[in-house]
Amino acid sequence: MSLEGNRTLEILSKAEKEGYGILAQACYDWGSVIGLVRAAERAKSPAILQLFPITLEYGGGEFLQFCLDKAHNASVPIAVHLDHATSAEHLELAIGLAEKRGIKFDSIMVDASHADTEDENIAIAVPYIKRCVAQGIATEVELGRLEGGEAGVRVITGEMLTDPDKAERFMRETGAHILAPCIGNRHGTYVSKPDLRWDILQDLHSRFKGRVTLCAHGTDFYSPKGVDWDIYGGEAYFRETIKNGSIKINVNSWVRDPYAEALSKNLASQPFPDAMEAATENFAANCEKFMKLFGSAGKA
Ligand SMILES: [Zn+2]
Repeated sequence: MSLEGNRTLEILSKAEKEGYGILAQACYDWGSVIGLVRAAERAKSPAILQLFPITLEYGGGEFLQFCLDKAHNASVPIAVHLDHATSAEHLELAIGLAEKRGIKFDSIMVDASHADTEDENIAIAVPYIKRCVAQGIATEVELGRLEGGEAGVRVITGEMLTDPDKAERFMRETGAHILAPCIGNRHGTYVSKPDLRWDILQDLHSRFKGRVTLCAHGTDFYSPKGVDWDIYGGEAYFRETIKNGSIKINVNSWVRDPYAEALSKNLASQPFPDAMEAATENFAANCEKFMKLFGSAGKA
């Protein structure tokens, strides 16, 4: 199957041409899915709805179908992406849903970055990437290795920065469409201010512009409690990452944590539907902030 018309790739290629970033927001439940779609429609912004494999396991194909229905029936372009599918079990679950039941993500991250060598990374990823392409699903891969972990992502140690020379061969041999590089970024909360290698990102961008989209992972760059937002540059970090060519920007705790906090607080004093509505609105408002910051608001 051709990838012509693939939602993820269409959203990202338009954004790259026009110079703005795309919010790829992790969603864990139906409230967050509704919040993200609401934000995108209100901001007239394209977006990517991301699930982790743990959420796919929890909700099954029916939950994915709900995400696809909400995203694809929105008044703006929204793609549904599976982030960090690292194990054979998770990859089989996601690709199996496409092959056996026609319930298809628009894109899947086939993440074999835990492999010991680059050749092993390629060898693990390629058969899955071929099956994805056969289903019209775009793919993302990671070269180098990010340390840390997020809720739903396994904890990794042993950071490896991405080597741009190796990335050329890696993208050619995997045939993947989106690259997640490691430039000193990490998953989860940062323990200290990282030394981000913008030169690596710039090098990758100049090589891959128009061919492969770059994706920023580990943007919980500052403490999720918000106190470090200003200390480490806050908005400036995101502007810099877009300027240097990372168009797909994964966001998790910045939107998730206030949502969880609002939900737990509201449930103590409000009826369930009211508490859920207020939390959904909280999620939507924070998604909208990022859409404005990334420059995607008004672009759909
Ligand atoms: Zn990630």
